[in-house]
Formats: sequence, structure tokens, C-alpha cells
Amino acid sequence: MHSDPKGLWIPRLSNAPSIVERKECILVVHEDSGARERLMKMMQTDGYEPVLLESADDVMAALGQNLPDLILLDITMALGLELCGELRMLEPTRDVPIILTSEKAAEEELVARGLLAGADDYVAAERPTELSARVRVQLRNKRYRDALQRVRGEREAFRRQAAVDPLTGLLNRRALADIISEKVIAGEPVAVLFIDIDHFKTVNDRFGHATGDVVLKEVADCLKRGMRSGDHCGRYGGEEFVLLAPGIVSEQAYRMAERHRLAIAGLRVTELGDKHRVTASIGVAVFEAEGGETSDDLLERADTALYMAKTTGRNRVVVARDGAASTLPAKPSGFDQLSLARGRAGSDG
Ligand code: GH3
Ligand code: MG
Ligand code: MG
Repeated sequence: MHSDPKGLWIPRLSNAPSIVERKECILVVHEDSGARERLMKMMQTDGYEPVLLESADDVMAALGQNLPDLILLDITMALGLELCGELRMLEPTRDVPIILTSEKAAEEELVARGLLAGADDYVAAERPTELSARVRVQLRNKRYRDALQRVRGEREAFRRQAAVDPLTGLLNRRALADIISEKVIAGEPVAVLFIDIDHFKTVNDRFGHATGDVVLKEVADCLKRGMRSGDHCGRYGGEEFVLLAPGIVSEQAYRMAERHRLAIAGLRVTELGDKHRVTASIGVAVFEAEGGETSDDLLERADTALYMAKTTGRNRVVVARDGAASTLPAKPSGFDQLSLARGRAGSDG
């Protein structure tokens, strides 16, 4: 950090690796007390915090309390190599570096077995400078791996955040559009439900915007409760939601949309008391791959069907078929409104 002319502290960019604030913990596992002491002193001299154990059996119990940054393991110890393999299999210790060690140079075959069992390195303690360097290298590599994992985690969290509508926790419009495009490009059947709350402006006008928001959340939760695994639901705009149901054909789509419509109509929103019931109109379009329809065409058909649902009385489901809209099981009258509807598709539905 350094200060600019106004006295503000600003960070100074540096290529240096981040400074580890705490002492790194080295678990030293050795049956011989003299060797243990020598390794402990070596680790302390190098600025680490050693924890000493005398047998493989003690290791699991110690790991339950604190995860070390590195394990220094006696290669000749009973069950040492078995322990090595076990540590590699367990989720918490999978990435903890293990260095095998012995007082004098160990047999080539034993070293090879240790490395194959899961150790990262081997070094004889009679070469203390090399041991010190190898510990350092393993810790440095682990820090890089940890940093990379953190960055990946953060990027994933950002990606998830960018796909979510903050008010309802549902997907946002862009994320929905991406999923629809994916399905259409892959030629996978998918039903699109355009769900629009009826007379929502009246809710805002009569009860205030905050209560309007509560209604939006209640409807979103209701849709979440009613959707099957594999479905995707998002807030498309103000009081409009889109539910995507992969693998659904027209008749199923109608029944599914009816189920959601009835669930919404059955909501009791405390803030609204008995004075206002929430209902929604639903336009449905099913993508069936053969027609060469684009995702925009598909959305437009769902929007047109929604418009039909609005103009034929609201609180109902209309399924679009073959570019025309019809309620199922009974067709509504007023198909002449479709040309009108097509003209307005893409605007507020
Ligand atoms: P219709 O039955 O024809 O759909 O009528 P409507 O009143 O639901 O539709 P209209 O498009 O006239 O009004 C939608 C209202 O939704 C207007 C806008 O203020 C409100 N709205 C949009 N986004 C939000 C929001 O995030 N919170 C709240 N409380 N209201 C919102
Ligand atoms: Mg509305
Ligand atoms: Mg609307």
C-alpha cells in the first residue's frame, strides 16, 4: 500500500506471491523419538509450526481436529504406506501434500511404492537442505492450487449470481433465454409457459409497491414448489414468469400449466387480506423440433397464447399449436384476435 497526493491509501500492485499470514502447520509422523525431535527443530527453524505424532494410528484422530498444510511421514513406519493411500482417498486430505522421509536413504523399491501409494515426494533427512527445499516447494504448489480453486469458486459464484433475479431468487431473463436457445439448438422438445399475473398494477395501486413485491415472491415460490426436477423457472420481466419444461408435449403442457394456474389462484397472501385474490394467465408453446422454429419464434408463440388468455378472460391457460393458439380442451372463440396478437408479440404480455 502507498498513499496518493490526497493522502488516500491505494494498493500497490505486485507480482509477489501472497504472504501467508499464519505459520504453516507441518504434521510430522515418525516412530523414532530422536528423528521426530530433529524434524521438529528443522521445521521450526524454517518458520513452520510442527505437530508431532508417533504412529499412523494417531493420524486420523489428529486430522479430525486440524488439517495440516503438509504431512512429513516416516517411510519405514508400520502402516505408513497404507496411511498414505488412505489420506489420498479422503476428501479433506486429498490435496494435502505428503513427503515421505527416512533418516538414511531408503531403498529404491520402497520409495517407488510410497510414491505410487500417493506420496508427493521422498527425501532422506540426512540431506536437510534438500528436505527444507522440498517442503517449501510442496507448500508453494499447494498455495497456488488453493488460490486457483478459490478463483474458480468465486467465478462460479459470480456466474450463478449473474443468472439470478435478486427479488425472487429465480433465473433472470438472460439465463432463461440461454436455456431456451440451448434446447432449440439441440432440437430437444421443451414446453414454454409464459405466466403473467392478472391485474397486477391494481395490487401496486391498492396495496403499495412493497406488497406488490411480496406477491411476486409468493408467486415465484409457488412456481418453485410446483415445478418438477429438470424444469427451469425464471422471472422474465416485471410480473411475468417463464417456466421451461423439457420433454413435455402439448396435452401434458396444458395439464401442467393448469396445475400452476390453480396453485397460484389458491395462494392466500396475508398482506392482501380477503380483498384481493392473485390469479395468473398462462400462454404455452411447445417446441417440437421438426418445424425449424427459432427460440424467438417459440417465445413469440407463447406470448401470443398469453395474449389470448388475457383477452379471453384471464386466469386461464391457452396453448399455442402450429402457430395458432387454442385453449385445451375447449377452443376459445375469437381467433381473429390472433393476427392482432402477433402484431404485439414481444411487447409486455
Ligand atoms: P394484466 O392482467 O393485463 O397483465 O394487467 P397488469 O396490471 O398485470 O399488467 P400491466 O402491464 O398493466 O402492469 C404491470 C405492473 O407491474 C406495472 C408495474 O408497475 C408492475 N411491476 C413491474 N415490476 C415490478 C416489481 O418489481 N415490483 C412491483 N411491485 N411491481 C412491478
Ligand atoms: Mg399482468
Ligand atoms: Mg405483463
